[in-house]
Amino acid sequence: MEPVIDEEKCIGCGNCQEVCPAVFHLNETIGKAEVLDPDCDLAGCCEAAAENCPVEAITLR
Ligand code: SF4
Repeated sequence: MEPVIDEEKCIGCGNCQEVCPAVFHLNETIGKAEVLDPDCDLAGCCEAAAENCPVEAITLR
């Protein structure tokens, strides 16, 4: 699985980076999360990150 972040929805809270730092990175310059490494299967924490996103901006494909 690979994560896709909806930048329109992202409010830059940083939860995804906190829950799954191998995959997600909060770009503080633009106040949006970015995908650092899309390998969710290796990281094993994308689902938790998606569940903890307050605006449901993360989808897994
Ligand atoms: S948890 Fe959601 S809203 Fe928060 S930074 Fe990540 S993608 Fe953006």
